[in-house]
Amino acid sequence: MKPIRINGGGLAGLSLGVCLRHKNIPVEIHEKGNYPRHKVCGEFICGIKEKTLAQLQIDTLFADALKHHDISWWMGNKQLLTESLPEPALGISRHTLDERLADVFQRNGGQLILGKRISSDNNPSDGCVWATGKPANPKTNKPEWIGIKIHAVNTHLNGLHMHSSTRGISGSKGGYMGLAEVENNRVNCCGLFHVRSNIRPTEARARWDNPAAVIMAYAEACGMTKLLELMESWDYDPNSFTATAGFALGLQEKQPGFSLGDAAWLIPPFTGNGMSMAMESSAIAAGWLEKYSAGDINWHEAEHGYQHDSNNHFSRRMKLSKIMHPMLFNFPGQQILKASIKTNTLPFKSIFSQLRKP
Ligand SMILES: Cc1cc2nc3c(=O)[nH]c(=O)nc-3n(C[C@H](O)[C@H](O)[C@H](O)COP(=O)(O)OP(=O)(O)OC[C@H]3O[C@@H](n4cnc5c(N)ncnc54)[C@H](O)[C@@H]3O)c2cc1C
Repeated sequence: MKPIRINGGGLAGLSLGVCLRHKNIPVEIHEKGNYPRHKVCGEFICGIKEKTLAQLQIDTLFADALKHHDISWWMGNKQLLTESLPEPALGISRHTLDERLADVFQRNGGQLILGKRISSDNNPSDGCVWATGKPANPKTNKPEWIGIKIHAVNTHLNGLHMHSSTRGISGSKGGYMGLAEVENNRVNCCGLFHVRSNIRPTEARARWDNPAAVIMAYAEACGMTKLLELMESWDYDPNSFTATAGFALGLQEKQPGFSLGDAAWLIPPFTGNGMSMAMESSAIAAGWLEKYSAGDINWHEAEHGYQHDSNNHFSRRMKLSKIMHPMLFNFPGQQILKASIKTNTLPFKSIFSQLRKP
């Protein structure tokens, strides 16, 4: 069998690696970081099918994940809706999940090479897959969005709590926060905010004296006082704090070569389900890579076949998300959403399902 090399050991790279090892294909994963590690992520997995997890041979790793059944949504300080989810979502931290995947991959004979960043200038070569996550946005030196995450400890929360706001100063577009419980009585608090130059970590820390200070400063600036009250009542694990900036949302410029997960399809997190998409793209890729590895098709055919199938699978939700995401961050968009919720005309479940369907 011809070997496969995967650059990037996040959800896409690791789940693909595990699946290929079950087919006895020699696989190397090159990951710039280490495990376990915290990542900026809402850690709320929705839309992934049991059969996709089974196809990737990773279903048992989710056996103890929490099951979320509901979603509540606040705009500013006003609760707009509470709905049951069309299907339960899974709650598990990336700290635990990525380590489990890395462990299974190695136990099944996969080679994991850690601690070295692979240059994306490398020419795409046969048998090489890119799963390096969100590309840095080359178009802007000034980051537009900041993603921030921390775990609250010794606490519980029912379902997913979303808080969004368009309130901004100096043209800022506001942002949103998602809160969802993960394992070990922890609640993931993860936000995506339009960057505000007046919020500096040291000043926020001085004011709040709390490991969640930066998130709380953003929540306050966006007028999310209900969220702030809740967050002030919790304790946090300072080691779980992570932040990321300097990326663009939406369809990325196509990476050269065979790419999957965020490296190929970066869906805005509020409307999308990037973790599920990372695993779905691995499941699509695995079939083509198996044929390539067995010598049934050449690399060009594998790449072409994968791109065709993943375009069919993801294009619809990317287009819908492109319409929905800006509505959450501009005033007229939020007014339309508010009015349709008030008059009971927002087809929430249908939109939610459409954003997760091929
Ligand atoms: C604020 C925020 C909240 C989110 N919340 C959710 C959520 O609740 N639910 C959901 O479904 N999705 C969510 N997402 C999206 C989700 O996190 C991603 O879609 C998912 O992590 C994509 O997986 P991936 O494997 O493609 O990329 P990643 O998980 O980012 O993995 C990429 C890996 O590649 C490694 N790497 C990068 N560059 C190199 C290099 N040059 N060489 C070697 N290694 C490299 C990185 O270290 C990393 O381990 C959120 C995203 C953001 C920004």
